[in-house]
Amino acid sequence: MPVPAPGGIVVRVRAALTDGTDLKAYRRGHPQMPMPSRFGHEFSGDVAAVGTTDARAPHGFAVGDPVMCVHSAPCGACYWCLHGQEELCETVMATKILGAYADYIEVPAHIVARNCYPKPKGLSYAQAAFLEPLACVVHSVEFLAPQPGSTVAVLGDGGFGLLHAQVLRLHGAHALLVGRRAERLELARSLEIDCVDARDELALPAILARTEGRGADAVVECTGSPAVWEEAPSYARRGGTVSLFGGLPPSTDVRFSAARLHYDEVRLIAPFHFGTKAVRRAFELLRDGEVEVEPLITQTYPLERIAQAFADLDAGLGLKFAVVP
Ligand SMILES: [Zn+2]
Repeated sequence: MPVPAPGGIVVRVRAALTDGTDLKAYRRGHPQMPMPSRFGHEFSGDVAAVGTTDARAPHGFAVGDPVMCVHSAPCGACYWCLHGQEELCETVMATKILGAYADYIEVPAHIVARNCYPKPKGLSYAQAAFLEPLACVVHSVEFLAPQPGSTVAVLGDGGFGLLHAQVLRLHGAHALLVGRRAERLELARSLEIDCVDARDELALPAILARTEGRGADAVVECTGSPAVWEEAPSYARRGGTVSLFGGLPPSTDVRFSAARLHYDEVRLIAPFHFGTKAVRRAFELLRDGEVEVEPLITQTYPLERIAQAFADLDAGLGLKFAVVP
C-alpha cells in the first residue's frame, strides 16, 4: 500500500473499468505506457489513507470515505488554465496517474483538490468509475455545442459512441449512432438511441435519408480509425461540423477534401481530454442518473483474472469490463 504524500490520498480500488486506450496499451504498448507498466485509469473506491493536509490544500476526505475521481487535474496556473483551456494545461498529462488495476492507487494532492468527489450512496463503484470517460464526453459535446433539434451522426458503437449519444440527447440533439456490431446496436436501441446498422445499409445514404438529403448537422468520430476520420466530413451537411473525438497515434497523417472544408464550410474540430468543469458536470450526470452507464459494463472480473479480461476484450467479447480487486 502506497503512503500518500501531503494533500494526497490512497484509494482502495473497488472497481476499475477497461477502455480502448488500455486495450491499445495491452496490445502494442502506448507512447506514455510502455509495457509492462501499471495501467488502468477509470476507477473508484474507498479512501484507505490520507496524507497530511496543510492549510493550503484541505480536502476533507477521511479514511473509509467512498470516492470517485479522474486520473488527472490541471495546474490552475499556466497560460492555458488561465485562458479556459484546462484540457491543454502544460502539466495535466505529465502529472496524471495510472495503475487502477491494483488493490490500491495513490491520488496526489492536485487531483484530490480539483477532481475528486464523494461517491453518492445510490451509485455503485463501477458506475462511479465512469466519471473519467463521461468527463471526456461532456467536454466533447460542450466543445461541439450542438443546436437543439439538430441531427448528430455518431460514428462508432463502442462505449464512447454510446455515451456521446446519451449526452447529445441531454443537449436536445438527435443522435444517430452508426455501428456494425449487432449486440452493441441492440444495447444502443435498448437505451432508445436511434441507430444505423452499417452492415445492412451504407452509412452515407442512411444519413442522407434521415436528413432530407442534406447530411448530418454534426458528425462525431468515435472509432479512432484514420479511415473513419477521413470519411467523417462526407456525412456532414454543408455548413456542418465534424468532431474528431477518437484519438489516433501521434505520427498519423490524415487527408481531407479541400472543397468540402472550403466551399461547403464543413468545420473540423477535435476535442481532447477535459477540464474541471466537465468533471463536475459528469459527476452531476452520474449522481442524478441522467446517463445510463451500467448497461455498458459487459462483465466483471476479479483482479487476479485481469489477463483473461484483456484476452477477452482483445477477442471482441465485450464493451467494457469492470475489474474488481
Ligand atoms: Zn495548467
